[in-house]
Amino acid sequence: SRRPVVIVGAGPAGLTVGNILRAAGVDCLVLEAGTRAFIEQRPRAGVIEEWAVRGLEQRGLGGNLTARAQRHTECEFRFDGRGHRFDYGGLTGRHHWVYPQPWLVTDLVHEYADVRGGAIRFGVRDVRLHDLDSDRPSVSYTDPDSGERQLVRCDFVAGCDGARGASRAALPERARISRHDYGIGWLALLAEAPPSSDCVLFGMHPDGFAGHMARGPGLTRYYLQCPPGDDPDDWPDERVWDELQRRLHAADRPPLTRGPLLEKRVLDMHNYVVEPMVYGRLLLAGDAAHLVAPIAAKGMNLALNDAFLLGDGLVAHLTEGDDTGLDGYAEACLRRVWDYQEFSQWLSEIYHGLSHGDPFRAGTARARLRRLFTSPAAAAAFAEQYLGTAGAY
Ligand code: FAD
Repeated sequence: SRRPVVIVGAGPAGLTVGNILRAAGVDCLVLEAGTRAFIEQRPRAGVIEEWAVRGLEQRGLGGNLTARAQRHTECEFRFDGRGHRFDYGGLTGRHHWVYPQPWLVTDLVHEYADVRGGAIRFGVRDVRLHDLDSDRPSVSYTDPDSGERQLVRCDFVAGCDGARGASRAALPERARISRHDYGIGWLALLAEAPPSSDCVLFGMHPDGFAGHMARGPGLTRYYLQCPPGDDPDDWPDERVWDELQRRLHAADRPPLTRGPLLEKRVLDMHNYVVEPMVYGRLLLAGDAAHLVAPIAAKGMNLALNDAFLLGDGLVAHLTEGDDTGLDGYAEACLRRVWDYQEFSQWLSEIYHGLSHGDPFRAGTARARLRRLFTSPAAAAAFAEQYLGTAGAY
């Protein structure tokens, strides 16, 4: 068969591109390794920036989100046994939206497949990309029902299959991959418990970072810094809660609300950026092109930014013969990518400096942290970067 665009991966990036193409009447096929139930439930991100929500709304994809998402205007840094509120909403008049990634993926897949009539194959195996340097690329996969290999010819392949997908595996040698390894792990936890605070908490403790992020009324994400490669089985629930309570302790705040832990995963914290994101007819978007450790909750936002630019660029090219968007695609994405990478690295030093074991780094991390509460200029700069902006990067 033949389609103008094959999209590999049905995450936020791939599904957003698919929705934009379908709205313009462009035929495409989404190939997804997981089942629909799996992608609709996989817990990951939850913080979406205002400009990204506006971008979804402008493409008819924000209905459920604005009705159900929570608005967040403050975060709290906990250190030296006290809570220190940071009112970024008051400083800027702007806010974050909290909307769990599985809800967004559920909305996007419903709109794409059930409303806009987009084609999607779930459970595909062994996806391979071919002839990307020609103007006749193709994608092959094993069909989960028949077990047979299928080949789809196309004009463009949108590589939206995340950090471990077929698109990254198909990158040519000329691809430059810049990588930064933090040398630390985070135990990512999902608790079946109501949030313990009305805002995001960052705990800076000599024994390591701890974080708290609301996901829904009965669901909360927590993070605990741990050695990279640590075994989640060494973290029984009681140990996790005791450690979270210790690192997030504030004498002026109530204790954490405990509950069963539904997910325990150790993330080896690292970032990478693939440049230039376009290789012949393969256009990368989202985590396939760049990973940013969940330090500043930026990954899904970057995936959406790429998807808006890629979807709009493909539509302009395929329906009007206008190449401006596609030609400037990688450069436009990468400016925001590098800006968010830099901010994550900057914030990482605040999170992890106190526990690094080096008194010099602990001293500078404390200075960086104090400055947020003593210098209005530093506070404004933090608020702007933490919120992200629609403006040019
Ligand atoms: P993905 O969501 O990874 O989607 C890729 C899709 O491709 C998947 O459905 C996968 O099954 C499929 N796939 C993979 N390989 C293949 C293949 N070979 N063939 C076909 N399909 C394939 N970001 C934020 O903005 N805010 C946060 O608060 C935040 N918290 C996070 C917490 C955790 C624990 C993690 C792990 C990530 C977090 N992120 C956060 C990052 C965010 O989840 C990702 O950046 C986002 O999912 C990227 O979207 P994507 O569409 O590029 O890739």
